[in-house]
Amino acid sequence: MQLAKRIEQLPPYLFVEISKKIAAKRAQGISVVSFGIGDPDLPTPDHILQGLWKAAQLPANHRYPESDGLPEFRKAIAGWYSRRFAVTLNPDTEVLPLIGAKEGIGHMALCLLDPGDIALVPDPGYPVYSIGTMFAGATSHWMPLLEENGYLPDLDAIPPDIARKAKVMWLNYPNNPTGAVCDLAFFEKAVAYCKKYEIALCHDAPYTEIAYGGLRPPSVLQARGAMDIAIEFHSFSKTYNMTGWRVGMAVGNPKLVNALMRVKSNLDSGIPQAIQLAAMAALAGDQSCVADNVRHYQHRRDTLVAALAQIGLKVLSPKASLYIWARVPQGYTSAAFAAKLIDEAAVVVTPGSGYGRYGEGYVRLSLTLPDDQLQEGVRRIASLKLGTQA
Ligand SMILES: *Cc1c(COP(=O)(O)O)cnc(C)c1O
Repeated sequence: MQLAKRIEQLPPYLFVEISKKIAAKRAQGISVVSFGIGDPDLPTPDHILQGLWKAAQLPANHRYPESDGLPEFRKAIAGWYSRRFAVTLNPDTEVLPLIGAKEGIGHMALCLLDPGDIALVPDPGYPVYSIGTMFAGATSHWMPLLEENGYLPDLDAIPPDIARKAKVMWLNYPNNPTGAVCDLAFFEKAVAYCKKYEIALCHDAPYTEIAYGGLRPPSVLQARGAMDIAIEFHSFSKTYNMTGWRVGMAVGNPKLVNALMRVKSNLDSGIPQAIQLAAMAALAGDQSCVADNVRHYQHRRDTLVAALAQIGLKVLSPKASLYIWARVPQGYTSAAFAAKLIDEAAVVVTPGSGYGRYGEGYVRLSLTLPDDQLQEGVRRIASLKLGTQA
């Protein structure tokens, strides 16, 4: 029996070594503090759970959902985009509910890429962009996200012959893992670029609501002409602490939205209706739960940035997202520094190299752990001795 090449081509699981070390620590009875995973620790707000509970009791919601979601859910998503971004969407042709943004991102590759095609993919980046590309038989052309460019890709650095062959460009702002943000001017530049080369622009935007100091990160669909070529992936996961419920949305160009709906209708049977109704409760309800989340994260961000600075680690305080992207000290690779933190302080961080070659030299720390654990992690990090590695 032989597995498909696409399975053999999957990169080895990045965190195997770290997972082994965590298991070893725990077996010794040592508590491990993890800044590893970006999964909100705060619970789903109560009014959303009430919506779910009520909807779950109705037999109509026990049956197969429609692939393209409840019409009233699509309408609610369009309403939110209009209130939040002043973007007008036709709920029947420009909105598609998803089983989480990740699902839509993975399936989008099948809509746009044939074997041998090229996708423009940020490095470092969320791994699904390149894995989806590989599953479709296509190749990723990496767009380096460099600190000196504010972690924005340099579009002029993409060779024109690659741009002419490319079918899709992936962007993600506010960014995971770097915490970078972009402004509308950058989106306008990206839209103009993609129009020139007839490239579909896919923007992954799950962190637009997790932003600090009153910042309101834009949607790519606010850019002039974006509806001609762009689709945006958004999610309830980070905004409303709903990672476990699996619900998100794709919005934008109707041809792209329709292609994704057709792929999905052949592979999945939609989002459980009670969860769609819970998501509607999230959009319709009091948004102060989002501001409360952001306040928690902002406090954690400030605590952690100060602690990292104290031990001499170079970090920029992120304006948005759930992540601190820290340069590792001189003499360490990402993996070596992550290993030192777990070995000597029982603290878990994610090596930047796991997000691509240009992530080397950094580690990512997530803000999604309870305050007492964060404080304990900070104490442990502060007690580390950071000599240059032998
Ligand atoms: C968390 C995350 C997602 C996944 O969102 P879901 O809706 O939970 O699938 C997508 N993209 C990025 C960059 C993320 O960090």
